[in-house]
Amino acid sequence: MAGPRPIVLCGPSGAGKSTLVKKLMKDYEGIFGFSVSHTTRTPRFGEENGKDYHFITREIMEWGINQGDFIEYTEFSGNMYGTSKTSIQDVQSKNLICILDIDIQGVLNIKKTNLDPIYISIQPPSLDILETRLRNRKTETEESLQKRLHAAKIDMNADTQLFDAVIINDDLDRAYEDFTNVIFSLESPIEHYIYVVI
Ligand code: ADP
Ligand code: 5GP
Repeated sequence: MAGPRPIVLCGPSGAGKSTLVKKLMKDYEGIFGFSVSHTTRTPRFGEENGKDYHFITREIMEWGINQGDFIEYTEFSGNMYGTSKTSIQDVQSKNLICILDIDIQGVLNIKKTNLDPIYISIQPPSLDILETRLRNRKTETEESLQKRLHAAKIDMNADTQLFDAVIINDDLDRAYEDFTNVIFSLESPIEHYIYVVI
């Protein structure tokens, strides 16, 4: 796939990935594009179909997987999630730097492809703080919250060697500074790209 290297974000649900990505895309408008995943989970209040996710049924998702439409997919907390080839192409065709927000299984699967992204892990300061943030977000039932905390324990013990950078999201401003520093300093054409665009 041509163009600048995509950026893969991974980390427990509630670690702050969406918060960081939304701020980045607002601060650097016209530079980054979000790869809109497909999922079988129910939309949360305020989520838009086609913007946050493509919300589809399990039947349609499985059909797409069988057709070879997905570069990677996973089962997380009782729902399917996946990145379609079209989602990445949509971003890259606009000459934007593609950002993916995927779980650890997705990272392992993307590593088997030729996408060659930069891998960034976003981690919470602790499991307790993660739980507080997830509860305060008020998006989960007790059951889905427990599933996310269970998955988080695995995520927080993942091999850091899988990533180009690991960012601890304690203070949001500091984490965002680390995030932009990583993106603009890692071996990638991004700095050059922004220079050219501006
Ligand atoms: P993710 O996309 O990784 O699931 P979110 O970006 O939705 O996580 O963040 C989870 C919740 O934590 C949100 O309600 C968000 O506002 C809040 N949050 C994110 N970063 C911080 C931070 N550094 N300090 C306190 N709350 C945070
Ligand atoms: P949420 O339901 O909180 O939006 O997402 C749950 C988890 O699914 C998060 O860890 C998120 O990174 C992951 N996820 C979202 N989209 C994808 C995807 O397309 N592929 C994979 N592998 N994981 C995804």
